[in-house]
Amino acid sequence: MQPLIVLGRDGVLLEPVAGGLVSVSELRIIPGSLEAVSRLNHAGYRVAMTTNQPVLGEGRLHIEVLNTIHARLAEGLARVGGHLDAMLSCPHAEGSGCECRKPSTGMLREIADRLDTPLETVTVIGDDAADIEAARAVNAYPLLVLTGHGQATHTDYPEVPAFDDLDQAVSWILTQR
Ligand SMILES: [Zn+2]
Repeated sequence: MQPLIVLGRDGVLLEPVAGGLVSVSELRIIPGSLEAVSRLNHAGYRVAMTTNQPVLGEGRLHIEVLNTIHARLAEGLARVGGHLDAMLSCPHAEGSGCECRKPSTGMLREIADRLDTPLETVTVIGDDAADIEAARAVNAYPLLVLTGHGQATHTDYPEVPAFDDLDQAVSWILTQR
């Protein structure tokens, strides 16, 4: 079975934007992150992405714009020989009680179901508490990147292995095989 890595989007692949990324023109790739996904792909890993997008439910982001942002991300990945096996978004506002908004585990469960992978074998890489808590809730293995909000999260979760960025996290994963 091909191992599975699940990434957060903002703070891991993309630079976070205050108030949420709601236009294509604000899309900024964290340097080296797309190449890191490609390295995982070429080492035989499947890679998926989850993202909380309450701006959808709040009406500040149209689904067409989100689809365009994710298409640009996929194009950027393709240029370096990488791809994502799944990209899932929670469109619900905080406090909506949905099962998908991280730290709830709905998106991780759906990815595991789609890709037929036991969650306890999954590595989750994120920059905030929601990623770590979601991973722990399903017995997946969390890693922290210090990009995005990762520095602050590292203070709260010093026990979670932390790396400067996705490139460094992937280098570590590939040496652990
Ligand atoms: Zn949701």
